[in-house]
Amino acid sequence: MHRRTFLTAGGRAVAGLAITGCLPRIGTRPSPGRRRPVELVPVDVSWDRIIRTTVGLRPHRDSGFVVRADRIDGKTVIHNYGHGGAGYSLSWGTGMLAAELALAHSERRAAVIGCGIVGLTTARQLQRHGFDVTIYAASLPPETTSNMAWAAFTPVSGLVSAERRTPEWDAQFRRAVDIAYRQHQLLAGARYGVSWIDDYAPIANLNGPRRRNAVSGDEAGTGLLAPEMTIGRTMLGPGEHPFPTPYASHSSTLRFEPSIYLDALMHDVLSFGGHIVVRTFDTPRDLMPLSENILVNCTGLGSKALFGDDELVPVKGQLTVLVPQPDVTYTAGGMMPRNDGIVLGHVAQRGVWSLDVDEAERKRVVDAAIALFGQMRAP
Ligand SMILES: Cc1cc2nc3c(=O)[nH]c(=O)nc-3n(C[C@H](O)[C@H](O)[C@H](O)COP(=O)(O)OP(=O)(O)OC[C@H]3O[C@@H](n4cnc5c(N)ncnc54)[C@H](O)[C@@H]3O)c2cc1C
Repeated sequence: MHRRTFLTAGGRAVAGLAITGCLPRIGTRPSPGRRRPVELVPVDVSWDRIIRTTVGLRPHRDSGFVVRADRIDGKTVIHNYGHGGAGYSLSWGTGMLAAELALAHSERRAAVIGCGIVGLTTARQLQRHGFDVTIYAASLPPETTSNMAWAAFTPVSGLVSAERRTPEWDAQFRRAVDIAYRQHQLLAGARYGVSWIDDYAPIANLNGPRRRNAVSGDEAGTGLLAPEMTIGRTMLGPGEHPFPTPYASHSSTLRFEPSIYLDALMHDVLSFGGHIVVRTFDTPRDLMPLSENILVNCTGLGSKALFGDDELVPVKGQLTVLVPQPDVTYTAGGMMPRNDGIVLGHVAQRGVWSLDVDEAERKRVVDAAIALFGQMRAP
């Protein structure tokens, strides 16, 4: 099950683990024919299998991400930040939009500020268009917010408020998501840690109110996604799936393994002649001594302090990770299997800056996972 209620949920936890009481926005009913039941290995969830709990702050703006060029003294500053819960999903796309703004200049040297998923993909898009690139960043993977992500293709998750969307922003978004969706498909494979995975959502009641936050159906993002970005949604009926609910939906989704993906992108930046420098900037003035005249700001939530963007607000997320279980090859109920562990989410607390683990949320998530996977039918 996908999360995604956090923009309206305030301090409450989001959809999270376990069972949705209602129908995802797919309009699909179980087909009458008899299908072979889906067999899935249950996740072995217990408190003594937890290996870490991580916290990250999503960089959210109610009016959506910013891709725009400004002039500061003699330099061009191109902003590319504020991707909320969709930074992985959109990164190659907004990186391309930023590179196009850079291409308007005759110079082919650029500095990228920030080394999370947005900075790294922007650096690669610039390199692909002939730029010499240096990344400057206060912290590098594995110490970025991007390393703390659930990291599935969730392009409208926590990204924008419906009432703040404009036709111009929508057009930017559609181009960005189109570019990113294609790019991710081409990266699928072990080297980048990008892959397709079966995605199940256990459903208690087909006639309940519509589920708000299916990836393709985040209300604030209504109408933004092309139909082909929701792959093969089917509804499984009683006896056709192993979950302790009458129904379960099934689709395929793209997902990313942050530790593999970010590392591979850093290697790519370096192998295409780029440089990565650890440096912190406190004010825009600190950027002026850089030798590059084109600066691309990919500092995520850091843009609030660095460029004074008061619209940026953190949406705290928390993931609890269990010992890896290689025979679990599907995502369901807020569980994502990876090489570095079985990840349980999600938490979304708007306006919370604390990086401390929220024990109450951890308990809620782990207990829900124990309940769901403990009742699953084993093959
Ligand atoms: C729990 C959780 C789950 C998520 N799930 C998903 C998901 O399923 N799908 C999805 O698409 N997205 C997801 N996201 C969102 C995604 O992780 C973010 O949108 C993305 O990581 C933002 O990337 P970024 O590169 O802009 O920022 P960051 O990763 O924060 O990188 C910012 C970079 O800028 C540098 N920097 C900042 N300030 C300064 C400064 N003053 N001077 C120098 N350097 C500076 C930092 O050191 C860092 O290198 C999730 C996030 C969280 C926390």
